Amino acid sequence: MVQRRRCATIDVGSGDRARMAELEAQFIQDTRITEADLSLIIPVHFIHVVDGEQGAISAVQRKQQVKVLNDAYAPMGIVFTAEEGNVSVVDNPEFFRMGHMSARERNCKTQNQAVDPKRGLNFYTAEPGGGLLGWATFPFQMEGDPAMDGVVIMHSSLPGGTGAPYDLGMTAVHEVGHWLGLYHTFQDACVLPGDEVSDTPAHSGPNYGKPADAEQPHNLCANASAGAECPIHNYMNYVDDDWMHEFTNGQRERMWAQVGMFRRDLLTSQAAAAVAEEAEVWAQVRW
Ligand SMILES: [Zn+2]
Repeated sequence: MVQRRRCATIDVGSGDRARMAELEAQFIQDTRITEADLSLIIPVHFIHVVDGEQGAISAVQRKQQVKVLNDAYAPMGIVFTAEEGNVSVVDNPEFFRMGHMSARERNCKTQNQAVDPKRGLNFYTAEPGGGLLGWATFPFQMEGDPAMDGVVIMHSSLPGGTGAPYDLGMTAVHEVGHWLGLYHTFQDACVLPGDEVSDTPAHSGPNYGKPADAEQPHNLCANASAGAECPIHNYMNYVDDDWMHEFTNGQRERMWAQVGMFRRDLLTSQAAAAVAEEAEVWAQVRW
């Protein structure tokens, strides 16, 4: 079976990540955001880039994709909504085959962004090629380059698509994880702090396919704490869609901090009240 590159989301330099980690720790301490009973509702706007009939996505597929997102994110306190009115179709063979960080991608997004990225998720489907399943922009990139914000997802990876074993909609769960600030669980391999999340043990690289639970520790790093297991079912790894089914509490905390710092306008009023004063200060911080 062909091992697809799940994702082309950028690798953030270690200096930038160190600064980010510092800001985030301070933010969590100041807002005590994990202690609050928060909720976050994210409107999804689908932009289907097609080449004639190629890449067409049905209303049923959209519905199923949103359900898959909600099944994954509901335990994180995050809900996605999609209206059928918030769907656009762009028939353009060049944009359909856009490459990551290419002129085509920028032109496509500049011309077709469907929602202010401060207010919702621009969810592009296309056929990037090269075995790529998708990519995302991080929260901290939005302010500097709002036109590029969102996720680009291989059309055949949506539920009901033809991209088995990546056809259950988990590519979107993974890319939205980046969009909410998560790194891969194998970020920086065994060099700590890895993905900046303490309860996703470091492993030396992506896991593919369906690594057996009975064969732990797989590629877990030697510096992992006693009893730790390689996160082979984590959404931010590269395993098959039917093998992914978990985020951790640490990932939840990180997503909330990243939203609080960089996607504040997505917070509902209830949530916003909980972080308002400190977040106001943090909004001025340019990392
Ligand atoms: Zn990724």
